[in-house]
Amino acid sequence: MAATTEAKVRQLAWVYDLNKCIGCQTCSVACKVLWTREEGEKHHWWMSVNTMPGLGTPKAWETMGGGVDTTTGKPLPGHQPTREEFGGGFEFNYDEVFYGGTSGKAHLEPQAPRENRWAMNWDEDQGAGEWPNSYYFYLPRQCNHCSNPVCMTACPTGALHKTDDGLVLRDEETCMGDRFCMEACPYKKVYFNYERHVGQQCIGCFPRIEAGVAPACVRQCPGRAVFIGYLEDEDSPVHKLVREWKIALPLHAEAGTGPNVYYVPPLSPYRLNEDMSIDTETPRIPPEYLESLFGPSVHQALATLKSEMDSVREGGSSEMLKTLIAYKWQELLGPFTVDPATLTPGGNGHQGA
Ligand code: SF4
Ligand code: SF4
Ligand code: SF4
Repeated sequence: MAATTEAKVRQLAWVYDLNKCIGCQTCSVACKVLWTREEGEKHHWWMSVNTMPGLGTPKAWETMGGGVDTTTGKPLPGHQPTREEFGGGFEFNYDEVFYGGTSGKAHLEPQAPRENRWAMNWDEDQGAGEWPNSYYFYLPRQCNHCSNPVCMTACPTGALHKTDDGLVLRDEETCMGDRFCMEACPYKKVYFNYERHVGQQCIGCFPRIEAGVAPACVRQCPGRAVFIGYLEDEDSPVHKLVREWKIALPLHAEAGTGPNVYYVPPLSPYRLNEDMSIDTETPRIPPEYLESLFGPSVHQALATLKSEMDSVREGGSSEMLKTLIAYKWQELLGPFTVDPATLTPGGNGHQGA
């Protein structure tokens, strides 16, 4: 995949339908087993699914700064997440449990100090609010392959580049391990490899893309919750959801990086009153919270979704809802419909089923 210095021709984009994501972490594991099993990558989760509201990974990433100063175009200051904030990967007490003669008395547990424990999914399903109005939803997160990638701007060695397909890739030979990219990325989606002394992040599964195979996070999703395609392709569900129907929105667009991962925001049940009657005026997920993530357009996006659902309930038909349901799951894959099982084992793109 050649780098380009010209204006990019097309941009790959992902759309996650948060109404279909079941938080199963299959995407996280599919990515992990493909790409981050080497030395120094124990704490790498290029794909991670956070419970929202929540601190996520790295811990409290939304408070760590970074992004673009829209006046100067320069990177804003940001915190460089530590291995511990990502959840460093625990050592367990295997010897004690299996060989220490403590069978039945000791149980497996992480050996990190209790007060410092954190991991990719540490606050899973905690959410917010009080019963019976507690709530949460899942937010899959990966590198956004931004149109204005501040990680690239911040890198003093020019190790990052935009490809013809709009992916943000790193030349690990050029990377000096300065970690300015980690500070600058507002999504905190760059990981440091402490063994090889380089930054690493989602590579958009580019070897699979080149072979016509969808990224593992897309192809493996059992919820059929994620689409991939080119934003410019008017026939692509990605184009329709983002540009035509405007129901898929970027996360924290205010950070100024032009993210290319989009989200169909979560619909919400209504709040229950003390007598358990339904307050049909108030959604359980506070709209202002969704606005803090997806910007003010989230209200119109949710209104559009509800309107389409009402129309179908009244006997109408909705291309938008059919697209989101994805009756033909291959439609999720955009142009990347090649079955990886048909490729030559070990060949380019043969990266798991
Ligand atoms: Fe959500 Fe799909 Fe990932 Fe499961 S695999 S967590 S449904 S995006
Ligand atoms: Fe760079 Fe972060 Fe954007 Fe990825 S999400 S392209 S690492 S700024
Ligand atoms: Fe991981 Fe590939 Fe998905 Fe990126 S595109 S998060 S590398 S599975």
